[in-house]
Amino acid sequence: MIVDVHTHIPTHMDTIPSDDIKEDTQMRPGERVRLSTNVDDYLAGMETVDTAFVFGIRRRPTDEDSPVFPWKGDVNDTAAKVVSRAPDKIIGFMSVHPDEADVLQEIERCVDQLGLRGIKLGPNYQDFDPKSENAFKVYDRAQALGLPIVFHQGTSPYPQSPLRYAHPLVMDEIAMAFPELRVVMAHIAHPWHVDCIAVIRKHPHVYADVSGALIRPLQAYNAFRLAYEWGVLHKFLFASDFPVTTPAETIEFLQNFNEFARQYHMPEVPTDELEAIIHRDSLSLLGLK
Ligand SMILES: [Zn+2]
Repeated sequence: MIVDVHTHIPTHMDTIPSDDIKEDTQMRPGERVRLSTNVDDYLAGMETVDTAFVFGIRRRPTDEDSPVFPWKGDVNDTAAKVVSRAPDKIIGFMSVHPDEADVLQEIERCVDQLGLRGIKLGPNYQDFDPKSENAFKVYDRAQALGLPIVFHQGTSPYPQSPLRYAHPLVMDEIAMAFPELRVVMAHIAHPWHVDCIAVIRKHPHVYADVSGALIRPLQAYNAFRLAYEWGVLHKFLFASDFPVTTPAETIEFLQNFNEFARQYHMPEVPTDELEAIIHRDSLSLLGLK
């Protein structure tokens, strides 16, 4: 069983008008990432996995048109529509903004009416303080309802996204306040993987997802080797950050991981532990079984 815990909703349901096509040149240095996808592209990308979590990121309440997000319309309605195209495979997550007045009602709507089963937050992208009173209300409700939260962690190329809102040490304080909350720290909090490892080692229900690691091989080597030395590779969850990378190339990266170590005469990471990441039962770990 392969579970991808981090994929993004398509920007379009069906045909993508040519003037709607958006590409990014910063996420994968030297490459172009096509951010515009439709549901068929998305499901084709997910062919190699058994289950995937899909989500958008909700805008700031005041943002009409955000340069950060390629999606139009309500990201939670879209997540539910994507799930309806492959309900046995795709698990929808909501995204909410803690500073919206009706945030708790929106969580209720997403659970009861849309069938969404977790929450995606990007405090830096959404520009909210992850330690604010409003944010804590969201964590409290998520913990009570058994909704895991995937947090964007680490850097982003957008100048208006505050880095301190996505620093992994902040998650330590959230996990202390909400010990039963299931948390996924995205991207091993790149480039702060050392801090991320310290946090997931300490908290039984806090995990890291490996999405995007393959883009920077030396950083990935350090993150995985360090996680092995600290005994936390079992807290790494399989993820792609589709469409930024695909599950297929993430599997290939994990299966060929030690070629990089051998090339530079560095100590390897046990291949069985790398293979175990691919088959990790994230549904059970996050309480979604
Ligand atoms: Zn992402």
